[in-house]
Amino acid sequence: MRKLILALASATFLAGAANAATVYPIDRATILIGSPFDFKVEFDAVVKPEDVKVTVNGKDYAEIFGKAAEFVAEEKGAEDKVLGSALILRDLAIGTAGAYKVEVSAGGETQSVNWDVYETVAQPKAKNIIFLIADGLSVAHRTGARIMSKGMTEGKANGRLAMDDIPPVAFIGTSSTHSIATDSANTMSAYMTGHKSRVNALGVYADRTPASLDDPKVETIAEALRRNTKKSIGIVTTSEVEDATPAALVAHTRKRADKADIVGMMLDVKPDVLLGGGSAYFLSKDVPGSKRKDDKDYIAEFRNADYAIATDKAELDAAAGSNQERLLGLFHTGNLDVTLDREFLKKGTVDKFPNQPGLVDMTKTALDKLSKNPEGFFLMVEAASVDKMSHPLDWDRALVETIEFDKAVGIAREFAEKNPDTLIIVTGDHTHGVAIIGTVDDEKPGEEMREKVGTYDSAGFPNYEDKDGDGYPDRIDVSRRLFLAANNGPDHYETFRPKLDGPFVPAVQNEAKEYVANEAYKDVPGAVFVPGNIPKEDDTGVHAVDDVVLQAAGPGSEGFRGYMEQSDVYRVLADAFALGVPKD
Ligand SMILES: [Zn+2]
Repeated sequence: MRKLILALASATFLAGAANAATVYPIDRATILIGSPFDFKVEFDAVVKPEDVKVTVNGKDYAEIFGKAAEFVAEEKGAEDKVLGSALILRDLAIGTAGAYKVEVSAGGETQSVNWDVYETVAQPKAKNIIFLIADGLSVAHRTGARIMSKGMTEGKANGRLAMDDIPPVAFIGTSSTHSIATDSANTMSAYMTGHKSRVNALGVYADRTPASLDDPKVETIAEALRRNTKKSIGIVTTSEVEDATPAALVAHTRKRADKADIVGMMLDVKPDVLLGGGSAYFLSKDVPGSKRKDDKDYIAEFRNADYAIATDKAELDAAAGSNQERLLGLFHTGNLDVTLDREFLKKGTVDKFPNQPGLVDMTKTALDKLSKNPEGFFLMVEAASVDKMSHPLDWDRALVETIEFDKAVGIAREFAEKNPDTLIIVTGDHTHGVAIIGTVDDEKPGEEMREKVGTYDSAGFPNYEDKDGDGYPDRIDVSRRLFLAANNGPDHYETFRPKLDGPFVPAVQNEAKEYVANEAYKDVPGAVFVPGNIPKEDDTGVHAVDDVVLQAAGPGSEGFRGYMEQSDVYRVLADAFALGVPKD
């Protein structure tokens, strides 16, 4: 025991000592051959250039990498604080697969990292990939959507979701380079580049300097497709198109909030189809509703790049038939309204944006357009608001959103039936701390609302109905409804009822800038106060660290199995499209 304590103490001492340089890409990085990336070494001290030694597999790095790096004598942090020296080599690519050991030293600092540079199969397995992601998709969302949409009798589901018949093939770990927890930026970026990074980062390793656009880059799938193939690229989302998940296909920034810059990165890559919200970042600063700080008019820039442009459902239908090469649809200045408000309750901002298409319309249009390319396509479809409604603990909206997502999965499956050379992937990017624990039954005896919560045998079955057969419950405020509960969140009032007036706002900020329970729900009959269990600076429920389930069908799907890091998913995509074939 004593020995162990001593060993731990010395390990702690070594880890704490300022003698380890940082190398990007990080240890155990997996790198697609031929794919450009930036190499960076950060020394903790200011070192002399002649003292810096970098070897790759025992040889001088410049010999292996084909060029020399730039030496930065002093990197500066906030308030011009000197952080140490650095070495940066941009736009490097390795053309030979294998194990690469990178060893770095200068002054008293040393570091060594191992990279796995991999090639793919020579012949593509799939012509098309449809990557469907419901942001925040947890098991409770799947179960809840199935029960709400299809019903249940004597313990057996009365129908199946479209996603229920796609085999679950892997558990995905979603942690980031600096934390067990993640956000959509880190995970989607890992899916779309093969490299994990830090929370908020897209297409880069997060370096130590404050600037968000200078961090060491890695290649995104859209860039890899442009470099290697003539395939079309489609991005469909119910969020702003600059939001983290869609941005991950093209963006390189340490800060997902760099949305004005991300629009420019979208234009650089020119997805053939780009549909969602977020027009505020396309408009120059003097246009009402703009969120830009400059005069750039990206609507004009996209139009000049031969994009047909649509701003509502009718225009989307018209633009889909146009013979312009590309399609841009921006149906909201911000995120699209959620399905429950958009299609049924007409709440949220539906009066301002009355004719927004939904995920199903957008997915259909994208598939029509992209499938015209004989070379095939990569389409990413995101149901963003499963997450955006899980944060405020608005479970009814999150479940209806999941039903809409499932309908988009159904569209993808129909396409794949006619086009069997299509790989379909269905997954989330992280989970939420939510579970279905029973029902709320207004008829159950009891004075207080919590007495009307049915658990175990008394939960029975909810009584949602779908008389018009559209797959959505005709109403969500039925007398016996699903009861979902979060295991995390801010102080709030649990009302045990759907929020018919618009999305739930569980907590609001007080004068001390802390989030406290929103008193607007205090007088809902039977509402109970639920104390929060997360820091008071957090306004909503937070992401869970639990694995996400990945489902896949079609050619290449055999590459997914067991437990995988989210960065491993990219390798399966690269293999399906044969993106890493050695060029000799
Ligand atoms: Zn989220």
